[in-house]
Amino acid sequence: MNARIESLVRPEIRALRAYHVPESAGLIKLDAMENPYTWPEALQADWLETLRGLELNRYPDPKGHALQAALREAMEIPEDMGLLLGNGSDELIQMLALTVAAPGRKILSVDPGFVMYRMIGLFAGMDYVGVPLQAEDFSIDLPAVLEAIEREQPALVYLAYPNNPTGNRFDADDMVRIIEAAPGLVIVDEAYAPFTDSSFMGLVGDWDNLLVMRTVSKMGLAGLRLGYLVGPPDWLAEIDKVRLPYNVNVLTQVSAAFALKHKAVFDEQTRTIRAERTRLQDALHRIPGLHPYPSEANFILTRVPEGRAGALFDGLKQAGILIKNLDGTHPLLADCLRFTVGTPEENAALVTALESLLTTS
Ligand code: PMP
Repeated sequence: MNARIESLVRPEIRALRAYHVPESAGLIKLDAMENPYTWPEALQADWLETLRGLELNRYPDPKGHALQAALREAMEIPEDMGLLLGNGSDELIQMLALTVAAPGRKILSVDPGFVMYRMIGLFAGMDYVGVPLQAEDFSIDLPAVLEAIEREQPALVYLAYPNNPTGNRFDADDMVRIIEAAPGLVIVDEAYAPFTDSSFMGLVGDWDNLLVMRTVSKMGLAGLRLGYLVGPPDWLAEIDKVRLPYNVNVLTQVSAAFALKHKAVFDEQTRTIRAERTRLQDALHRIPGLHPYPSEANFILTRVPEGRAGALFDGLKQAGILIKNLDGTHPLLADCLRFTVGTPEENAALVTALESLLTTS
């Protein structure tokens, strides 16, 4: 290896692989929890009108005031709470780490969970502590989490509500116990809020260490890269100091504000996805050998017959369907695959392909 790389790049970074996104051209894309629906044509035409005349020679509004107003209008953000925008919620996770990172500082979450909490902590030089979820239903092991909080005194605690990649929603009382026990910030990550009926948004302000993080990605705007953080203004003022100037670009600001004014379109799509989730869940249950877990998100985690996850992933890809193979990523996810809920046609293709792969062996 190049000696300079060896001496300069931190060993923990050298040991990583860059975030890999599989090639998906021509495949039915059920790997990344995207909304499968595009916008109605009339809406697309109106959106293009809003882009006309935009001055791309100028930097964007640094705080995205118009977009903030549109978010407050559409998303029931408590009036007295602060709002901070990120280039996807991934950037907010990075800003949170940069705000508190110092040698020995810790990030705590539950495993299996969203990998970027750990990854970004590592980039920022923080240690990650993952407390295993309960094996049978992926619920929080409350005594274990409280004990870990006491022992590790984490600066940041992340709880995804609902959780990725398991799809379940944690017990709200358990979450409250954790918020009350944590010495630092607790970030409730509501990336999948459109697909469930419970939220902590109305509770921000009840504790001075609670932040709620959301994204527009899963609601149907993954291409725009926009996340937002809601919480006590004094906390957000500190986190705002590590934000890169102009982090949310002009096209995203204008397009997201436009889309939020037409939120009814996305709500309708969300309802369709939720209904399809039930149908897909039922269809998966009927396939011998599959054990799908309940989901409050726009994806379903399924246990498959032992040792078959890799072959099923490959077989589905050959059938033109890209999903996520989680086998080997965490002991609790052995023999697990994850499917995004797609359109009725996409889900039907998935079910047909799974049936044929599981009955012809
Ligand atoms: N949080 C969770 C729980 C997620 O699953 C994801 C994306 N998979 C994110 C955050 C990141 O979302 P964004 O697209 O806003 O960066």
